[in-house]
Amino acid sequence: MTAEGIVGEYLALKRDSDADLLAMQMGDFYEFFHDDAKTVGQELDLKVSERSSGGETYQMAGVPVDDLTPYVRALVERGYRVAVADQHETENGHARSITRVVTPGTLLETTTEDAQYLAAVVEGADQTEDTEYGLAFVDITTGQFHVTTVTGEDAVLTELYRFTPTEVLPGPDTRSNDRLLERLAERVETNTTLHTTEAFAPGRARHTVREQFGAVKESVGLERETAIRAAGAVLSYIDETGISVLAAVTRLHRYHPDDHVELDATTQRNLELVETMTGGGRSLFETIDHTVTSAGRRLLKEWLTRPRRSQSELERRQACVQALCESAMVREELRELLDDASDLERAASRSVSGSADAHTLLRVRETLALLPKVADRIERSDRLAGSPLSEIVGRPDHTAVVELQTALSDALADDPPQTLTQGELIRRGYDDELDALIKEYESAVEWIDTLAERESRRHDIGRLSVDRNKTDGYYIQVPKSETDAVPDEYEGIKTLKNSQRYVTDELRERERDVLRLEERRGELEYELFEELRTRVAEHASLLQDVGRSLAELDVVASLARHAVRHDWTRPMLTGPGPIDIQAGRHPVVETQTEFVPNDLSMTEDWRFLVVTGPNMSGKSTYMRQTALIVLLAQIGSFIPAREATIGLVDGIYTRVGAIDELAQGRSTFMIEMQELSNILHSATEESLVILDEVGRGTATYDGISIAWATTEYLHNRINAKTLFATHYHELTDLADRLPGVHNVHMAAEDRGGDVTFLWTIEDGPADRSYGIHVAELASVPSPVVDRSRTVLKRLREDKAIDVRGAKSGTGDTQQVVFDLGSGQFKRASADGGDETDDEREAVIEELSDIDVNEQSPVELLSTVQRWQERLEE
Ligand code: ADP
Repeated sequence: MTAEGIVGEYLALKRDSDADLLAMQMGDFYEFFHDDAKTVGQELDLKVSERSSGGETYQMAGVPVDDLTPYVRALVERGYRVAVADQHETENGHARSITRVVTPGTLLETTTEDAQYLAAVVEGADQTEDTEYGLAFVDITTGQFHVTTVTGEDAVLTELYRFTPTEVLPGPDTRSNDRLLERLAERVETNTTLHTTEAFAPGRARHTVREQFGAVKESVGLERETAIRAAGAVLSYIDETGISVLAAVTRLHRYHPDDHVELDATTQRNLELVETMTGGGRSLFETIDHTVTSAGRRLLKEWLTRPRRSQSELERRQACVQALCESAMVREELRELLDDASDLERAASRSVSGSADAHTLLRVRETLALLPKVADRIERSDRLAGSPLSEIVGRPDHTAVVELQTALSDALADDPPQTLTQGELIRRGYDDELDALIKEYESAVEWIDTLAERESRRHDIGRLSVDRNKTDGYYIQVPKSETDAVPDEYEGIKTLKNSQRYVTDELRERERDVLRLEERRGELEYELFEELRTRVAEHASLLQDVGRSLAELDVVASLARHAVRHDWTRPMLTGPGPIDIQAGRHPVVETQTEFVPNDLSMTEDWRFLVVTGPNMSGKSTYMRQTALIVLLAQIGSFIPAREATIGLVDGIYTRVGAIDELAQGRSTFMIEMQELSNILHSATEESLVILDEVGRGTATYDGISIAWATTEYLHNRINAKTLFATHYHELTDLADRLPGVHNVHMAAEDRGGDVTFLWTIEDGPADRSYGIHVAELASVPSPVVDRSRTVLKRLREDKAIDVRGAKSGTGDTQQVVFDLGSGQFKRASADGGDETDDEREAVIEELSDIDVNEQSPVELLSTVQRWQERLEE
């Protein structure tokens, strides 16, 4: 085919696909052309060559066929959708067609161990605040599939943030919902793909779901149409990309958002659960993670972002952690065993898609063999045998595990090569035909191996040797000095400087045998391997079960290890109710500094705490630590406290000064209000609300008013447990007026001019003049400090303050008072009164003096009019 023909074919294929880039196979290479070549060249530092043909120049970049995967992975991880067109033989030469489109959400070859979700969002028909959305999340690398329905946009964002999908398929209506897409883009780094509208149609989607799960779907209660549409759409999308991995999606997990503690997107970020806001420092996950497997790490992240509300489930996890805390030796033995475990969920997906190699299956075999060992170790420990750990490791079907593991042991060679086509994958004794083949092969090789010795003896040629190379195949080599002794049946094939190479008919025949047998062996072993891989693929759900059990064990062992090392304790869990934490600590900060523990008690009567204290005195730390302790309790972990009772919460909401959002070009105050709005709409009586400053982004009096009203609303209407840090001292007055509101402050001590923060929380509001004290410490000149003290004192007493002119003693001193109504200073008269008041008093005086009977109505009317005018002035 001509160059134009090929480029033409490339462009035609590209046009028919909706991919960003196309890799087209040409023999041993995959090639990118034109702009695609330039893009790939830039992104991956790949050499781009310029070709010209028929007067046209074009760019071209290629990668060897066997190396395509890492290139595609790198491109997809940068957000490109890459189509792959394979070449296949036809009657009249080659043909090419697109066999796969690799997208961020369907990348099986991912190198990160994190979950990789593909999501679909379907919007219900009624476009109101209460619009129902159906959501589906699939991780093709592990087969996890979650489906739910939620109400309202905020809840959609919450769930998307929880799963942080790498690719999102918005449904037909959601596509035109620019606001939702914009908000999503701000919160989650993801790629949005427009999947065909038909895939979202109810009938089509229902059919797809039924094909995947059969009758199962009815029993899981997937009755909402939006949910079915989302589920059907993701499944059909995976199918269309050509990655045959759907059989690894063995179960549909339908969840209700109420199963989890609601953590809105902002809170997940603010609390720095799995990553920090700035990228520096350590997240909660990084601090507490001692897992030894990648599946364990994935699960711990999942627990942290999806804390639970079910007390029984949490107590089951706590019991595991406690048992493992109390059996340090066994715990460490178990962790050592788990250290050898490979990622079975991922192996299941790779087996299903046909990309698992012999090493993957070998590791599956070894990991399956761990389950009975782990179970046995648990059973031999009295402490652990009586805990729910037995149930965790007992969950997978042990008989099936042993069967599959035995099958793999019987079949797989111990040290298989990387390639799958050259044999040596399968153990002897597994397959009769293969054994016979190998026997025959080995005897042929043996004949050749001993040929040199036989020939040398027979013809008395001392230095005769037999060897093989690519061009000559097998040959007999004789040094020139001995070629006289060579018999007639030797046929010379090559003359070298010092020697001569020969073959014989017999050697040729044996060589043919060896080649034939080698080829057949490669084919047969590959067939047997494929059978084995299919068998593993058929057990995908078993692999997922075992993987999940081991991961769970890894996570509880990790939590136990952290608890023991950092002296964490088991909190007592109760239904929604008081939260009482004795000597609580911040789980992350305590690992970085000498931490001063603090108590916290929240009850119905103490449900709203106004936290005051100077900057840097520890207010945010105290509030965050409370949120994190409650969150840890609700993943089943022990907590950093001497002792605690945690009334389970249904949601944790935080509003924290957001520095980084400025960079995104949105008004911080607008964001602040959106976050506040979400909290006030979503929080309930059973929620924990953390507000770190509200209303700071606007003028003082706006700010106070909003903070004030927010407090009343949370206290009176919502009844949520709230910690509210504020620098508006005005709010501390609310403690006297609302029964559930109380003041606490962070203590600071002034020791001979040196202010020390004590990091302890105390009852009552903080000292107001603290700021001036800090100014003094910072050596602000004493006239300024003294003067501020006076101004503050007069302000508090609502007294007039004299504004000192440039020259003192000029006699034209002005006085002002602070007017709460307008939030401004107003001029005061010399006696401290106000001109308006004087006028008003004068008018009132005249009014009381007037004798109504002495004046005509017209006169009266004009007097009243004058008064009005004076008052208006
Ligand atoms: P604020 O919110 O009042 O401005 P922060 O909570 O940010 O103060 O705390 C300021 C610093 O004090 C933090 O860097 C933290 O490390 C430290 N800190 C806070 N609380 C404690 C504590 N209980 N023990 C020890 N150090 C603390």
